[in-house]
Amino acid sequence: MQDHRKLGRELELFDTDPLIGAGLPYWLPAGAALRHALEEYVYDLERQAGYQHVHSPVLGKRELYEISGHWDHYRDGMYPPMRIGAEEVVLRPSLCPHHAIIFRSRGHSYRELPLRIAELGGMYRAELSGVLGGLTRVRSIQLNDAHIFCTQDQVAAEVAASLAMIRRAYRDLAIEPARYRLSLASPDAKYVGSQESWDRAADILRKALADAGLPYDCEEGEAAFYGPKIDVQVADSSEREASLSTIQVDFYQPERFDLGYIGPDNTKHRPVMVHRSVIGGLERLVAHLIETHSGAFPPWLAPVQLAVLPVSEGQIDRAAALVQEATVAGLRAELNSPEGKTTLGARIRQARLVPYLAIIGPAEAASAEVSLRLRDGRQLRSVRPEDALAGILSRVQARSQELW
Ligand SMILES: [Zn+2]
Repeated sequence: MQDHRKLGRELELFDTDPLIGAGLPYWLPAGAALRHALEEYVYDLERQAGYQHVHSPVLGKRELYEISGHWDHYRDGMYPPMRIGAEEVVLRPSLCPHHAIIFRSRGHSYRELPLRIAELGGMYRAELSGVLGGLTRVRSIQLNDAHIFCTQDQVAAEVAASLAMIRRAYRDLAIEPARYRLSLASPDAKYVGSQESWDRAADILRKALADAGLPYDCEEGEAAFYGPKIDVQVADSSEREASLSTIQVDFYQPERFDLGYIGPDNTKHRPVMVHRSVIGGLERLVAHLIETHSGAFPPWLAPVQLAVLPVSEGQIDRAAALVQEATVAGLRAELNSPEGKTTLGARIRQARLVPYLAIIGPAEAASAEVSLRLRDGRQLRSVRPEDALAGILSRVQARSQELW
């Protein structure tokens, strides 16, 4: 594994500038392309699983977080309030309160549950500058988040489905968890809600892990202030661990926001909130992807999926036409023209992380074919361009780890 801070800058995925500030990286075009592929992926995964996407503001009144409990229990991680007129607003440290308000804004029947609200939204953490670095510890996070509002009876199935979704995503991303962690309250710390509800939530999480056949560690003191959680831990290049994905069962915020739905008995009932993030914050995920794959991303994630290399000036037009065709077909393609004395070998080495290289020399141009070179060194000679594009597209769409 290589440190993502160095490799990510070399690959021109992201960078930072002291004038923007520590912990506030910006995404360069290649990094933004990778991030966009991840966003599309998770939107689609959630859409297929019955989630509804919303957008909510990154600011909220201080009072919102007083009700949610963040102000009392999480203030150290929050930015100080900004005064505007007679109001105080804060940058949000989480998306839960906004989603609770969105749920509350409409009446709900038990028939609509489980109601799954998802958002890829910004959240902010007042990290001290000493701990900031690269994409792993940042002050501004784009979080893949969702809140499932459901009946008590539905919690276990929603937790199991969320866990399955996380495992599916890790397969597609070709990453491995370092371990699963059941994060519980510490006996001496201050938490909210009744012991009985904490025990019930922990039992559900424990059973979901056991049913999935996953080994896990229990860790006291790692719970959220409102409930226990499953954390999926990943390790970085220096074996430091961080939580990427999470599933949390919360009986507390529904109380605080007085959430309700009308049951079959025509009276108001309290839903449970399941908080879950499949791929976590995009910054941390991309840091992990860079390190795990050493920049050689699976084809569906690669910032450039196909580079077209004309051997000499004479094939540039043909190469440019293939780039255009590939782009229209939905691939991220790039033309690597001969420049000055750069040899073809040097250009191939420069593009060594690109999964597919189409090389067009005089012979290929004459027969209207390409030579397709795969990142693993395999070479497919005399391929028709339409077959090359169809072969690449099918593997990208299937999120295959196999190049061919
Ligand atoms: Zn939440």
